[in-house]
Amino acid sequence: MREQTIASPVEFSGIGLHTGEAATMRILPAPAGKGIVFRRVDLDNFELRADVGSVERVAYATTLMNRGVWISTVEHLLSALYGFGIDNAFVELDNFEVPILDGSGLKYIEAIQKVGIVAQDVERSVMRITKSFALEENGKTIAIHPSESFSIEYEIGFPHPLIGDQKLEVEITPMNYANLIAPARTFGFYEEVEKLQASGLVRGGSLENAIVLTEKGMLNETSLRFPDEFVRHKILDLLGDFALIGQAVQGRIVANRAGHALHTRFVAELLAGTDHWTVAAGEASIKVS
Ligand SMILES: [Zn+2]
Repeated sequence: MREQTIASPVEFSGIGLHTGEAATMRILPAPAGKGIVFRRVDLDNFELRADVGSVERVAYATTLMNRGVWISTVEHLLSALYGFGIDNAFVELDNFEVPILDGSGLKYIEAIQKVGIVAQDVERSVMRITKSFALEENGKTIAIHPSESFSIEYEIGFPHPLIGDQKLEVEITPMNYANLIAPARTFGFYEEVEKLQASGLVRGGSLENAIVLTEKGMLNETSLRFPDEFVRHKILDLLGDFALIGQAVQGRIVANRAGHALHTRFVAELLAGTDHWTVAAGEASIKVS
């Protein structure tokens, strides 16, 4: 399996979920070994690498920062690139928050499928989990175990009639990602909107880019895209944060009621030691369907 990039540039415009600011973003092909690199075109092309060392703030969205320059809400974009096996890309952005689009990864997948993916002349290295690693924090847990493939199992529980307990395990292949995970949208609770907006969050949130839950139902007039869309979006988010590991992984992730803060801490701590994994170049460990 070789490293991959997109065949030609794709462009997106829209507002940021939290800032409500308009932004235009272009994803461009990048050479092998480059990784995912953001460029703030409004700041002399200042570059920010999508790696766990750049993570700054993770309360409601994942923000990357370096030398005072930040890029916010990167998780859905990184999820789509990682889920689709894009190792290398430049992401040009003319503002500080990635457009939320429809609140899922669907637009990215549609655009990438349209232009196509190209294999590059470098073998992809794969981090193989050799020993289980787990983190626990206030009843939230996340772990990764040795496995022959790359999969995520997620379990959530919300005392809400549309959610309740949801649990799903998905093997992350490009096909599964596109069909089972990418369409799942962001969700939030209407009763929290005012409080979040007062803290500078969800100012761009609307029924166009999120499922907004009321006490007993939801404000959106369209139906859910999956009965368990909520847990699927949690898998989308986790994959976006896990993408900050910067390489393909062979292992089975199991998460229970986690969130961005625990996801990113998990990646940082997993990378910090070498007791739980080895890296092998050129092994066809990520299956392509
Ligand atoms: Zn999300």
